[in-house]
Amino acid sequence: MSAMPSEGVPVIILREGSARTRGKEAQRSNIMAAKTVAAALKTALGPRGQDKMLVSGFGDITITNDGATILDEMDVQHPAAKMLVEAAKAQDSEVGDGTTSVVVFAGELLDKAERLIDKNVHPTIIIDGYREAADKALDILDKIATRVNAKDKKALKKVAMTSMATKIVSADSDYLADIAVDAVLKVAEKKKGGYRINLDDVKIEKKAGESLLDSELISGIVLDKEVVHSDMPKLIKNAKIALLDTSLEIEKTEYDAKINIETPEQMQEFLKAEGEMLENMVDKIRKSGAKVVICQKGIDDLAQHYFARRGILALRRVKKSDMESLAKATGGRIVTNIEDLSPADLGYAKLVEERKVADDKMTFIEGCKSPRSLTVLIRGGTDKIVDEAERSIHDALSVVKDVVIEPKTVVGGGAVEEEIAVRLRRYAQKLSGKRRLAIEHFAESLESIPAVLSENAGLDPIEITLELGARHARGEVHAGIDLKNGKITNMAALGVIEPALVKKQVIKSATETAAMLLKIDDVIAATRMRAPPRGPHGAPGAGPGGVGGGAPEF
Ligand code: ADP
Ligand code: MG
Repeated sequence: MSAMPSEGVPVIILREGSARTRGKEAQRSNIMAAKTVAAALKTALGPRGQDKMLVSGFGDITITNDGATILDEMDVQHPAAKMLVEAAKAQDSEVGDGTTSVVVFAGELLDKAERLIDKNVHPTIIIDGYREAADKALDILDKIATRVNAKDKKALKKVAMTSMATKIVSADSDYLADIAVDAVLKVAEKKKGGYRINLDDVKIEKKAGESLLDSELISGIVLDKEVVHSDMPKLIKNAKIALLDTSLEIEKTEYDAKINIETPEQMQEFLKAEGEMLENMVDKIRKSGAKVVICQKGIDDLAQHYFARRGILALRRVKKSDMESLAKATGGRIVTNIEDLSPADLGYAKLVEERKVADDKMTFIEGCKSPRSLTVLIRGGTDKIVDEAERSIHDALSVVKDVVIEPKTVVGGGAVEEEIAVRLRRYAQKLSGKRRLAIEHFAESLESIPAVLSENAGLDPIEITLELGARHARGEVHAGIDLKNGKITNMAALGVIEPALVKKQVIKSATETAAMLLKIDDVIAATRMRAPPRGPHGAPGAGPGGVGGGAPEF
């Protein structure tokens, strides 16, 4: 890349091989990439959306219609497309639902922006118009949202069911929604002016077998671990629990130590010494008063035997994250040196029991010191089903949490989007010029949500959106699409309600992502750090078309 100053000597400003696209071309290629991602997700939106089967490089299969998961597995390369993926991920971590919507809406905003650019509207004007429209949309949303009681189980259940209505598990959403509502209300901590909720307190454990309706909420921690030795007790009540992050084995020396054993007596001697060391370890733990030992590392066979003889139940190789949940739940401290273990370090649970679940054994630690420690044990026909159920429960827990945190709901089925669009247009009427045009295009983009919902249900999107628009213009604030019956009805009456927080976040992050992409008028892609070997005809690094055509990696 070079510029030609008057002397005629080119000034090199970019490393050879860097790809550069600028101006309209850069915008167009970014918009194109983002629209492609949105188009891929569109068909997954809503209760009648299709599912996607994703096959990883290793051949692992995931079946889902969860936007964040689809994008995660899609392995998107284009930098602009990646920004959309980021928006979906942010949506997922902020509010836990609405990931498909944010991508569809952002894609639509960009599509409309492209048309405006074609009409020679400058991107800066579009960005300003979109931002103004988003602010206004958030105001409108606040006005039309319904205030609910943060502990109103009925409303919370409807919200959970709406989020699951779009998932493969929807047939059992009635049952699963109760679990989600109970779980969130149990971990909610009252604080000034509201509640605090940490969803990490709700552990999700899954085991294929039985059916989704055999899933349960357990107050305590469930570990996918069996008791290490068959002679150990399988049930301990009022359990004092030692949590250890040290191996209960004799450390093998790092270097090759040679021990000369020449006689059978010497062998005996050696084994006896080793056994005594292990027995000492076990006795130190027993002296602390522990009846249950949960160890992050390994436990030697002989140590297992000594524990069993002393009536102690032990688990080994427990995940670090589970150890941390256990510490929080039982009030115990994770000890790294057995010499330090004291009675004060032990955790407490009313019951520790190994139970058979499907063909495996799992250990249940129930009635923990902290009442805010829960496990949702997900059951279901196959691994694929429990995996998708886990994602759906995650969404359900998130939306219930959203409403408890900010007790406001809106109606789904495209109702809230249409109402905002109608009011935005009314607002835009008072304006003029390109700003008005941008706001109207924003409103139209919002209507892509009802349009896509109806398209996915096999309905005529044009007919449906026209009628929807007319009914909202007549003041039917809650009119939305009943996708099952292909009719427009009052969605509040149908119980299709969603957290206001989710919709707010959709508007905010889609607008920001679109604005960010529209602001870019110059893409400079560095050469790959390690260019793959090429044939004799290809110049290394100078891919065809750079960002516009190929897929440069950042
Ligand atoms: P997202 O990842 O954006 O949450 P979903 O596939 O979950 O995408 O679809 C969400 C959309 O489906 C929302 O617009 C919501 O209002 C709509 N929806 C959910 N349940 C129903 C229903 N029973 N009838 C009509 N629309 C529904
Ligand atoms: Mg959803």
